[in-house]
Amino acid sequence: MKRPWPLKAAQAMSKGKGHVPIRTCISCGTKKPKKELIRLVLDEEGFVVRDEKGSMPGRGAYVCPKKECWEQLDKKKRLNKAFRAKRTLRLHPFSAEWKRDLARD
Ligand SMILES: [Zn+2]
Repeated sequence: MKRPWPLKAAQAMSKGKGHVPIRTCISCGTKKPKKELIRLVLDEEGFVVRDEKGSMPGRGAYVCPKKECWEQLDKKKRLNKAFRAKRTLRLHPFSAEWKRDLARD
């Protein structure tokens, strides 16, 4: 029987020793594995939306799943820098609901 991957490689991946993409939170600057951060993208109306599946096209930005980080996004023009936009970007109005799901720590 042939394995597509050597078993050792598969084990290393599952322990996080393989290639883990690291991204930086645009709010607090913490570097984390990509899957621990929430991906943000610009929608066609120019609002910043949460990319639920992490697969929406376009330039992405990453933010921690923490209330503090989300509050900072609106206040400090972090979004403009992250998306290199000249005008002021805002989170989509739906973001009020996303924030309710976020943990405070
Ligand atoms: Zn953060």
